[in-house]
Amino acid sequence: MTDAALKDLQTFLTANQVKGSAPDLQTYGKDWSIYHAANPSLIVFPENEKNVVDLVLWARKHKVPLVPSGGRTGLSSAATATNKEVVVAFDRMNQILDFNETDLVLTVQPGVITETVQNFAEEKGYYYPVDFAAVGSSQMGGTVATNAGGVKVVKYGLTRNWISGLKVVTGAGESLYLNKSLKKNATGYDLRHLLIGSEGTLGFFTQIEIQLTNQPKELKVLVLGLEHLENSLDVFRTFNKKMSVTACEFFSHQAMEKVLAAHAKLSAPFETQASFYLLLEVEQTGEGSAELIEALFSDCFENGWVSDGVISQNSQQSENFWSLREYISESISPFTPYKNDVSVRVSRAPEFVKTTQEIIQKSYPDWEVIWFGHIGDGNLHINILKPKDLSREEFIKKCQGADDLLYQQIAKYDGSISAEHGVGLAKKKFLHYSRSPEEIEILKQIKKIFDPDNIINPGKIF
Ligand SMILES: Cc1cc2nc3c(=O)[nH]c(=O)nc-3n(C[C@H](O)[C@H](O)[C@H](O)COP(=O)(O)OP(=O)(O)OC[C@H]3O[C@@H](n4cnc5c(N)ncnc54)[C@H](O)[C@@H]3O)c2cc1C
Repeated sequence: MTDAALKDLQTFLTANQVKGSAPDLQTYGKDWSIYHAANPSLIVFPENEKNVVDLVLWARKHKVPLVPSGGRTGLSSAATATNKEVVVAFDRMNQILDFNETDLVLTVQPGVITETVQNFAEEKGYYYPVDFAAVGSSQMGGTVATNAGGVKVVKYGLTRNWISGLKVVTGAGESLYLNKSLKKNATGYDLRHLLIGSEGTLGFFTQIEIQLTNQPKELKVLVLGLEHLENSLDVFRTFNKKMSVTACEFFSHQAMEKVLAAHAKLSAPFETQASFYLLLEVEQTGEGSAELIEALFSDCFENGWVSDGVISQNSQQSENFWSLREYISESISPFTPYKNDVSVRVSRAPEFVKTTQEIIQKSYPDWEVIWFGHIGDGNLHINILKPKDLSREEFIKKCQGADDLLYQQIAKYDGSISAEHGVGLAKKKFLHYSRSPEEIEILKQIKKIFDPDNIINPGKIF
């Protein structure tokens, strides 16, 4: 960065809004993913929309690329600065601005932590249904930029479903106020939805308006043992037809073993060992619900779909069952997992797991593969654990070699190479497996309109 650019920066940011120490550059320079090293030139902390506009105009003038950064829990290197970019961190734009109980709209700044939104909603007697293992550190700006999914998508959908309005500063430095929390707005293209999931490549979110909803009624959690993953869909259909299913997750026995090894306080839900476990969460909507759950559970058992199972009897037990699923990412992280997050149509998910596992095992017989994910919405997380004798670099290289095999499978199944973690830097060279050349060309044209000088998150997605 030139001296002139630095001097110019100091005309609109105070000294304490700029950080450049080596530890700060490392901390703020990358997300959770392991594939790319952090190499930013500076970290800046805007405190209001005007700071963001000034930053964009400054970046255009001095040709300095900017990387928007939230809670840095992203898994695709979309918030990683590898090339001397300036990281724009939203930690100080972290205020709840307004709650309108008639509209049920909560207005926040982008740096508000996702869990803070969940807690605020709960305190007011309402509900924000986007939920995943990183809610305690991800920021709303990051979740909107990735269109985060998580464990409740099967009933409530993705982040996109809950964003009623957005204020954005584009790469041209223009401020836009999109949809303004209108329920009905038939005025042409909905730019709000274009910005949601854009991975910080089109603009910076400076204000987010969130549609809250009513709290679910009492929830029950079931953990069911399965020998054959295809039976997970028989179970899902059986419950979904009669009840409101709020989560439908699966994990392999190997995944559970890793969680139990890392968390001595947790125990297996039942003694019978199964190849896979299905975690179902259902809403008890009224009298007779408890009996209905037991009857459906018996049906699944009698049909031979499940080998064993438990139904939570209190909230502590529900929490313990959820921990078996929620702690997987954290429990396998010491094994340097190479993560893939893919999706296929729900009805094809079990078959996809089976055929893909066969392909991986044939090519890489020594690899330990941990499968888990949101099977109720067709989203599968494939985690390859690093063998002890391979260096991290060798391991990543080999895994990237295996990616082509995996994504050829995905293309065969008409699936997506990234279900909810985004493309970022990590998946961009594989985008062609999920998007046609014509589509990618349109995406590039859109980027040019929003960001004519290519200064916001350049090189991400494509
Ligand atoms: C243990 C674990 C479990 C996870 N589980 C899930 C899951 O179940 N479902 C799921 O969807 N994800 C999951 N994730 C991934 C991650 O938490 C989500 O992608 C989350 O939405 C990222 O939010 P963040 O604030 O950390 O964003 P970051 O990682 O900081 O950034 C993500 C993207 O948002 C952009 N961005 C950030 N702030 C802004 C802003 N104000 N304006 C414009 N762009 C911005 C960045 O440039 C980047 O492109 C998980 C991650 C971990 C570590």
